[in-house]
Amino acid sequence: MEWEVVIGLEIHAQLSTKTKIFSGASTAFGAEPNTQACAVDLALPGTLPVFNENALRMAVMFGLAVNSEIGKRSVFDRKNYFYPDLPKGYQTTQLAEPIVGPGYVDIETDDGETRRVRIHHAHLEEDAGKSLHEDFHGMSGIDLNRAGTPLVEIVSEPDMRSSKEAAAYARKIHAIITTLGICDGNMAEGSMRCDCNVSVRPKGQEELGTRTELKNINSFRFIERAIDTEVARQIDLIEDGGRVIQETRLYDPDKNETRSMRSKEEANDYRYFPCPDLLPVIIDDAYIDAIRAELPELPDARRARFIEQYGLSEYDAGVLSSDRNQADYFEKVAELTKNAKLSANWITGELARLLNQADLTVKHSPVSAEQLAGLINRIQDDTITGKIAKNVFEIMWNEGGSADEIIEAKGLKQVNDTGAIEAAIDQVIAQCTPQVEQYIAAEPDKRGKMLGFFMGQVMKLTQGKANPGQVQGVLKQKLDKLC
Ligand code: ADP
Ligand code: MG
Repeated sequence: MEWEVVIGLEIHAQLSTKTKIFSGASTAFGAEPNTQACAVDLALPGTLPVFNENALRMAVMFGLAVNSEIGKRSVFDRKNYFYPDLPKGYQTTQLAEPIVGPGYVDIETDDGETRRVRIHHAHLEEDAGKSLHEDFHGMSGIDLNRAGTPLVEIVSEPDMRSSKEAAAYARKIHAIITTLGICDGNMAEGSMRCDCNVSVRPKGQEELGTRTELKNINSFRFIERAIDTEVARQIDLIEDGGRVIQETRLYDPDKNETRSMRSKEEANDYRYFPCPDLLPVIIDDAYIDAIRAELPELPDARRARFIEQYGLSEYDAGVLSSDRNQADYFEKVAELTKNAKLSANWITGELARLLNQADLTVKHSPVSAEQLAGLINRIQDDTITGKIAKNVFEIMWNEGGSADEIIEAKGLKQVNDTGAIEAAIDQVIAQCTPQVEQYIAAEPDKRGKMLGFFMGQVMKLTQGKANPGQVQGVLKQKLDKLC
């Protein structure tokens, strides 16, 4: 039996407002527990919420960026449930009349095709506090700092057909919200969290299978792994004659398995009703148009421009445009070096490698765009080889300084002096008699391949500083003369 996978995502993104959605308390991350929740966030008696207009603006920006209809009238509802991290007893959210109506984003699949994922709607709501299970013996701690932080919850249609597509969709949403500057996108800190709804059905069947919901997945890699694991579990279950039950499951990355959290039968009855403390939010075309006029260039448009303007590959253009800071960094380096391809290679190669290792993003890169451009320019004018450039880059990363300063201080200038290069080649030829004899004995069309060995020896002898183009030319001449 062939199975088709069906996935819909609910993504929560924390909006980067300075203050909470209904109060003036700070939203800054990392403060001492319970120092940033005020009386309004806890809905203490006598308090009234006041809606933060910045949260509204950001939600409208998002809606416009995903081709949605904006709700000119939206309404806040109370979703009632009690949990220790929600002592007020209800979450203020939107149900029937959300701020963002139906829209879509396009994702690029691995085979280079474009797939459209429809967005059902996106609504504004407040975040809850956080339960802390470590550090408290036999008890849980509650930190209410996060309570009242504005969220936009983005609900997709079940339009994705593989874990890869789900991750690509999540990446696209991440690129959009970070480019808009409405969310910092930090998944490890929980600024963007993903619930994945997963079902399978026999290929060709119209009706959707029963889904399970995988909660709070906090990296793109885990989205793929959690879905793959859950799909395998569902297929095994059905093929063994069982039935998937609708439930919420938790993904455990350490064991790479999903476990049941609560089933539909245990699900809460939320008794939604319109919040009597908040008026409906009414906005007009002028308000929406003013926001539309100030939208930045979005990732899809930037990606297309990178291909068109700089001749980048679809892949490089996709990677570089997925993060606004990275895209800005690239454009600065490309402008200073006039070599977009080499700039892209360095940014997606060496720079990305060291950033990853240090768990940093481009925004906090210790090497600035100007520094990297300076380095690339020294490769372009043959002052240093590409190989030495990697060393210079590491020094730059660890100790700072410009390419010129480092090259000067460490004596790394490329050797272009023909005399010095010839001397090194002569020395290698003299030392490697057996290899030279093999070279002479080889068929002429096999010799090209054998040059690599001699190249390596010469580069080693010159500590990587010899101009590789010159070495290659002279080496071939000298060896061929011997044949
Ligand atoms: P609920 O109201 O119970 O949360 P929704 O209908 O709003 O359910 O769907 C929540 C999410 O689950 C949406 O992203 C939707 O696309 C997805 N979804 C719904 N049905 C399925 C299914 N059978 N398989 C996979 N995803 C689904
Ligand atoms: Mg839901």
